[in-house]
Parts: sequence; C-alpha cells; structure tokens
Amino acid sequence: MKRVFSGIQPTGEIHIGNYLGAIRNWAKIGDQIGKEAIFCIVDYHAITIPHDASSLPRLTFEAALANMAAGLDPNKITLFAQSHVREHVELGWVFTTQTPLGDLERMTQFKDKSEQHSILSGLLMYPVLQAADILLYKADTVPVGEDQVQHIELTREIARRFNYRFASPEAPIFPEPKASIDTGAARVPGLDGAGKMSKSKNNTIGVLEPKDTIWQNIRVAPTDPQRIRRTDPGNPEVCVMFAYHKLFSNSDTVQMVDTECRRAGIGCVDCKKLLMENIWQTLEPIQAKAEYLREHPSEVTDALVSGADFCRTIAQDTMQEVRQAIGLLPLDSRRP
Ligand code: SF4
Repeated sequence: MKRVFSGIQPTGEIHIGNYLGAIRNWAKIGDQIGKEAIFCIVDYHAITIPHDASSLPRLTFEAALANMAAGLDPNKITLFAQSHVREHVELGWVFTTQTPLGDLERMTQFKDKSEQHSILSGLLMYPVLQAADILLYKADTVPVGEDQVQHIELTREIARRFNYRFASPEAPIFPEPKASIDTGAARVPGLDGAGKMSKSKNNTIGVLEPKDTIWQNIRVAPTDPQRIRRTDPGNPEVCVMFAYHKLFSNSDTVQMVDTECRRAGIGCVDCKKLLMENIWQTLEPIQAKAEYLREHPSEVTDALVSGADFCRTIAQDTMQEVRQAIGLLPLDSRRP
C-alpha cells in the first residue's frame, strides 16, 4: 500500500456505521502511510443528482469537519475538496471520450439511482469521474464499501484501456488500483435491526447527534421480539442492542449482557441505558472535537487548502503525462 485514495460524500451526517466501518480504518491507514493517504470530499460528484447550490459549500465544510472530528487528522493524512483540484474534471473528460457507453449503463448504482432521480448525463458519467479521482493520483489501493467494487473494476478497465491505447506495456501511465473492502460498515446493523445502517433507511445513530436524540432512538428500538415481559428470558443473538454492545462495550459487559439477558436477569431498559453510556464514551470526545472545530473553522479551511495544494502538484504531473500521451498541443509550444 503506497498511496490510498478514498472519496467522502459532502455531508456532515456521518453515522456509527461510517465511523466504525470506514473512518477508523482510514485513520489507521494514515498512521501507516501519512500524507499518501488521500481523502477527497467529492463535491463534483454531489452535483450528479439535483442539488441545492446554496447549501453545498456548507455541506462540503461540514463533511471535512465531521471527518476531522471523527479521527482524520490533516496533519497526518491529506484531506481536500475535489473541486479545488480542477484536474479531476479534465481527466474525467479524457476518460469519458475513451469509455464505451455500454460499460456505464451496466453499472448497478446508475440503474438504482436513475430510478430515484431524473437522469442527468453526469449520473451516467459518475464512475468515469470516480476513475479519474483515483487514477489522477495513481493510487494503488481504494478502500470502498461492497457497493463500490463494480466501480473499481471499471476504474481498472479504464486504466488498462488507456495504457493499451496511449502507453507502452513497459511504461504504463496508470497502475490498476485494487479495492480494499470496508467490511466493518456492513457489520453495523441499523437501529431497526433490518439490515445495515444506512441514511437512506433512516435507521442510523449519528456520530454528531445530540445525546438525548440518540437515547430517544435507542429507547424505542426493537429488541428480541420474543421477550415481551421483563420476566421473559431473551435471546441476545437476535437483538440489535447486543450487536451494539459488542461494538461499544468491554468484554465483561458483553459477557454479562449475554448471560443475564438469557435468564431475564437484566431488563431491556437497563441494558439499553448501559449501552447508551458506552456509546457515549466513544462519541463524546468526537463531539467535543467537532465543537472545537466549529469555534475554529479556519483549522478546517486551512486543512482543505493545504490538502488541495499537495494534491494539485501530483495531479498536474499526471495531467502533463496524459496530455502528451493523447496528443494535445503543449501550451508553451509556440515559445522559442
Ligand atoms: S436484555 Fe438487552 S440484549 Fe437482551 S433482549 Fe433486552 S435489549 Fe436485547
């Protein structure tokens, strides 16, 4: 793993599935490879579906703030906004000219999203821009959720096709990046217990949500449906609260809940209160950091500026190679 690239949607609403499944892992990658761990808030991607232009700058800022609060340290890793490095769009266009339409129409995410939104051409081209995001930095590893694996396959195909047409086998311009699956996200179930935690299912615990709101949601969340009275023994294996205990509580507490639930030694309300305190132990420092960053917004904007400066240098080098490879007239060709 030499260089890692990952895209972050421009929203400050990260949930514990994002945190446990992705952000914690990204922070660890940053510990290993430092600035070569590149995280990009993909605001150009956000406009591929109808969006509110007046709120996008705030959402982009909030995404940076939330991810910094949750553990992405811009002194270690690189964090920037996609639109601050224009070469993303330029390489996206070059790849657009080389990508068969059929490859894009096959994408599962395009089919899903086009059922929900009016089809803008940008939605079809989304994976091409994503390929440009990754290949602009010649990243070798891309941490993604399982739903993005198909897009990384397309990125590899785009790199292969470009190398075949415009470079020699001995000196390819683009490496073929590999997907590294964030399995943790899939393992965090939603509050309703019906599948994975996801904003679209409205079953999330927000990392920056107020403690009261989190408690209200946990308080009414379903438990073992067979446990109707306090005296009924329960089965923790079918209860989402127990799944959360395994993620947030220490092993003694997990063991205690496992035993006491089965013999009705603990009631669901007490079990949930205990869980709430343990979740809060994780979230409280993140929320405190978020509050600090809100009071010091220049720490967020400065991080984005220096992240973009770092990325622009790499991106410009890549684009110089690409322009030459595809036969564009250099700007300085008329100078003596
Ligand atoms: S005691 Fe806890 S683990 Fe058992 S059913 Fe109730 S909430 Fe779930």
